[in-house]
Amino acid sequence: MSGPREECGIVGVTSHRRAAEWVYLGLYALQHRGQESAGIVAANAGNALARRGMGLVAEVFDEASLERLEGTAAIGHNRYSTTGSPTLANAQPILVNYRDGFLAVAHNGNLVNARTLRTRLEDAGSIFQSTMDTEVLVHLIAASRQPSRDLAVLEALDQLAGAFSFLILTPDALYAARDPYGFRPLSVGRRGETIVVASETCALDLVGAQFEREVEPGEVIKVTPGGNVATLRHEPADVECMCVFEQIYFARPDSVVFGMSAADARRGMGRELAREHPANGDCVFSVPDSSNAAAAGFAEQSGLPLEHGLIRNHYIGRTFIQPAQDVRDFGVKIKYNPVTSVIKGQRVVIVDDSIVRGTTSGALVRLVREAGAEEVHLRIASPPLRHPCYYGIDIPKRSELVAAQMSSDEIAARVGADSLAYLSFDGLYRAVGARDRHCDACFSGNYRVSVEPGIDDKAAFEPTIATGIPSPLGQ
Ligand code: AMP
Repeated sequence: MSGPREECGIVGVTSHRRAAEWVYLGLYALQHRGQESAGIVAANAGNALARRGMGLVAEVFDEASLERLEGTAAIGHNRYSTTGSPTLANAQPILVNYRDGFLAVAHNGNLVNARTLRTRLEDAGSIFQSTMDTEVLVHLIAASRQPSRDLAVLEALDQLAGAFSFLILTPDALYAARDPYGFRPLSVGRRGETIVVASETCALDLVGAQFEREVEPGEVIKVTPGGNVATLRHEPADVECMCVFEQIYFARPDSVVFGMSAADARRGMGRELAREHPANGDCVFSVPDSSNAAAAGFAEQSGLPLEHGLIRNHYIGRTFIQPAQDVRDFGVKIKYNPVTSVIKGQRVVIVDDSIVRGTTSGALVRLVREAGAEEVHLRIASPPLRHPCYYGIDIPKRSELVAAQMSSDEIAARVGADSLAYLSFDGLYRAVGARDRHCDACFSGNYRVSVEPGIDDKAAFEPTIATGIPSPLGQ
C-alpha cells in the first residue's frame, strides 16, 4: 500500500489571478519533498480542473498546461517515490465532484487508521478509486450528514488518526488543517490579498509571500476570497509530535520549520556532534547537500577546516540511462565525486545527516579512500535510525535498517571507516529544543500515536482487480 511510505509537499494559493502559476512555483521549491509525481487542481467559478503526471514538477507542467489551469484558487502536490509501484492513480491532488460541487484534496503525512476507515466506508457502499489513504477523507466529507461544508470538513477530519497536513479546495474556500499532534509542517504566507499555504517556508519565499504564521497543531483554517483567514477550530492534542526528521534531513535548510530555521538546527546538531565525538582529522566535509549545515557546525566546534571534498551532480533526472557495464557503486558515483586535491593524504572527517541502509556510506568511504584519504572518520548528525516511520517519512522496515542490525563499531567495519559515531538524543535535543515536543519514533521506537495492526502490509489497499479501474483523477 502506498500509505506508510509517503513523503509529500503541498501548496495552496487563493485570490490570485493565475493561482496555478504560483502553485507551480511553490511545488518547484518543494521538489525535494517528492519527485514521483506532481499535480495541480485549479478552481474557476465553481469549476475545477486537474493536471497530474509522473515525474518532476518541471516535467509534468509546461506553459500550455499551466495556462489551461485557469482560476483564482489552486492547490498542488508533490509525491515522493515510494517503495510501492508508482502509479498515476495515486498522484494528487484528488479531485471529485459530489453533491456540493467539486472537492480537491492534497495531503502530506500518513493516516494510521486509514484501513479501518476504508473498510467501514466500503461496507457502506463507498467505491475507492486509488490505494491512497488520503482518499478516505474525500469519502468522509461526501458521506457527512452535517448541515454545512465547514461542519462536514471538521467532522471528517475528526475521524482521522495519524499525521496529516491537508489542503482542501472547494468552490468557496480553501481549508488547511494540521493534525492535533503537529507531525508535519504547514505555513501560511501572504502577499496582498493572496494567501499561500505551503509545507515549507521556502515555497513562500519563491513567490514573494510574507510568512505570517504556521497552521497550529489541531487547527483548521478557512481561507476565503479577499485574503480572509479564519480559524474554524483549534484543538491540539495534549502532546506535540513535531517530526524531528524534518529538521535532520527532510526539510530544505532555508525553510523555517516548527518555528526554527532548519539550517540553524542542523548547524547545532553538527556542533553537538563535534562536542560529543571529536575526531583526529585534518579536515571536515559534508555529503552535499543534506549535511552541509551539520558539517559547518562540526567544523566550527572542532576548529577543523571545512572543505568541499565531495561534489554532487544535481542533474540526475528520471530518464538517466544506466550503462549496461557493471560499475561498482554506480548509484553513489553518479551522484558524488571526490575532490582528490582536497582528500589525498588527509585524515578526513565526513559528516552525514543519517545512515539508512548503509549503502551510501559504504560507497562513499570507498570513493574517498580511492581518492587517497589516509583515514576516514564518519560522523552522523542524528541518532541511529532503527525503526520505520508510520507518520509520513519514507524509512524502510527494520530488517533493512543497518543500525537496527549492527552496533556503530560493526557498521564502521562494514562500511570500512576508521571510526563512526552518531549524535546522542541529548545532543540532538540540545540543538532542536524540547524532546517531549518532538516525534523521534524512527530513532527510539516510541510511537506516541498508536498504529492500526497490519499497517506494514503493503498489499493492504491494493485493488484485487488491478486494471480497468478508471482514475477519478483524470488528466
Ligand atoms: P543509505 O545509503 O540507505 O544509508 O542512505 C543514506 C542517505 O539517504 C542519508 O545520507 C540521507 O541523506 C538520505 N536519506 C535519509 N533519509 C532518507 C529518506 N527518508 N528518503 C530519502 N533519502 C534519505
